Amino acid sequence: PAIDFSKQPNDGYFLVARALAKLGVRHMFGVIGIPVTQLASAAQACGIRFISCRNEQAAGYAAAAAGFLTGVPGVLLTVSGPGVVHGIAGLSNAQVNCWPLVMISGSCEQNEVGKGAFQECDQLAAVGGHVKWAGQAATAADIPGTIAQAFQAAASGRPGAAYVDIPSNILMASVDDLAAVQQAEAAVAGPLSVPRPAPPAAGVAAAAQLLRGAQRPLLVVGKGAGYAQAEGPLRQLAEAAGLPFLATAMGRGVVPDDSPLCANAARSMALGQADVALVVGARLNWQLHFGEAPRWSSGIKFILLDVEPSEQDAAKSAVVLRGDAGTGATALLAALRQGQAADTPLLPGAAASGWRAGLQAKVAGARDKLAAKMARTAFPLDYHTTLRVVRDELNRLPKPAVVVSEGANTMDNARVLLEPVVAPRSRLDAGTWGTMGVGPGYAIAAAVVAPDRNVVAVEGDSAFGFSGMECETICRYNLPVCVVVMNNGGIYGGDRREQRLRELAAAGLAAAGVPTDPAPTDFVPQSKYHLLMEAFGGKGVAVATADELQAALRQALESRCPTLINVAIDPQAGVESGNVHAFNAPKGGS
Ligand code: ADP
Ligand code: MG
Repeated sequence: PAIDFSKQPNDGYFLVARALAKLGVRHMFGVIGIPVTQLASAAQACGIRFISCRNEQAAGYAAAAAGFLTGVPGVLLTVSGPGVVHGIAGLSNAQVNCWPLVMISGSCEQNEVGKGAFQECDQLAAVGGHVKWAGQAATAADIPGTIAQAFQAAASGRPGAAYVDIPSNILMASVDDLAAVQQAEAAVAGPLSVPRPAPPAAGVAAAAQLLRGAQRPLLVVGKGAGYAQAEGPLRQLAEAAGLPFLATAMGRGVVPDDSPLCANAARSMALGQADVALVVGARLNWQLHFGEAPRWSSGIKFILLDVEPSEQDAAKSAVVLRGDAGTGATALLAALRQGQAADTPLLPGAAASGWRAGLQAKVAGARDKLAAKMARTAFPLDYHTTLRVVRDELNRLPKPAVVVSEGANTMDNARVLLEPVVAPRSRLDAGTWGTMGVGPGYAIAAAVVAPDRNVVAVEGDSAFGFSGMECETICRYNLPVCVVVMNNGGIYGGDRREQRLRELAAAGLAAAGVPTDPAPTDFVPQSKYHLLMEAFGGKGVAVATADELQAALRQALESRCPTLINVAIDPQAGVESGNVHAFNAPKGGS
């Protein structure tokens, strides 16, 4: 039922809450305390669901994921001082992932600034390096306008993080003059509208020409395309043009993995041999090997479709299409069709080159190899066996689950093995920054914004540990989240101290003997993580075999009851740093 906003107080709390409600916010994540406790209640009075987490870091990850999943900036509420500092974890992660997030924090009283006030902190300075926009509401009447500006900044152009600071005396202040309230609230016209700009026609024509002439064209789908909800237009473009594609980890599912055009399993060949790559909603950063040789061919021509391309990426591209992924894909398909007879291929160069068939053959070979590896049932459990069981249970679901994965080996293996991804915005992981500890927050957000889907968080024991207390949040809101902890007793797995000493000795380097402390990578072996979920009334199960895992997971998915499955993984199954071990120092050196 509609809420009669005119019958509400006009204090700072309600001015914030009403502005959010009018902007279309339906969920808010955070941790309450002085001076924002009543702000959370005001939000609830305005019909916003407030998800109260156990620390601001997890709440910030949740809010950021909600922004990505819904397209409306996620909202994070924190207290002053330490709350802001913890919240910066979420703020910075959203900014680096190009996800829209607005963090709202209370700050100390204006007339106590500089006097050592309670939780005093120069919060605007603290958030400075991690946001697109930051501002303070210096009067109660400033609140709606400041919030509207933050939302606009977070969602327009390249999405990212924005920060709103509200001193505690302003939150408590009331605007008595009704005309002044109306005037202030006029700053929020209604639900946030995110622009979907079309790229300029001349660029689109140039891109179409380049693609037509390409022998080995490739589409790269990034998480920006997922955020843009460009699945309709991109799928149409790929299918109509017969354009092979690769998806980044969180760009998966925008064009479904089970398409014959999907080249994910032939990634090295696709990158290394493509002559023209249309990159949509992805940056040419470390994850795409900077767009450089040798992973890409040295003659590669990039067509970059991005709402706000960086200068470096634009400089690497033959054609830059500044615009929305969906609008741009539609325009590009229209340009490819322009003047073409209905029965001629839209990409004649590719049709004649055998590129598609070559990729398909490579994909088929890779899949056969993988199937052979996955057929084996290991005991103690390894990544392949565990993830095969998880995959098969996921693939039985009538509606695709949202799958979160993090942890070095867990995430790398899950990317390859948990397939196919057939729906957009169905995968969440450590992302551009490689942020570990995001999983529980992401899972909470997914369950809140997509209540009809199951959420499965496949977590390394290390990654899970960053925010394990969020099991209480999952239980309190009774969210259909199943956390699968891949428990190998440490970071990367077993104790490698002796191995490391042997490597040093082999290199002729000296070291003290084996330290008596546990290895820096070690945790308590066989930790009973499942008891954490039991502690809060959810279900906890410890499993050691494939059959036990399958039974526990099936029950979790069918019951939709908060569950933690603690999987005993062979401590020797993982490798240091997962598949980015090339980033480590050379063996033997320091
Ligand atoms: P990935 O990690 O999947 O490679 P990145 O995070 O590197 O993706 O890149 C996401 C890109 O998507 C950013 O450059 C961002 O500007 C862009 N982007 C965000 N929204 C849109 C949109 N609506 N249309 C096109 N590009 C977008
Ligand atoms: Mg581990």
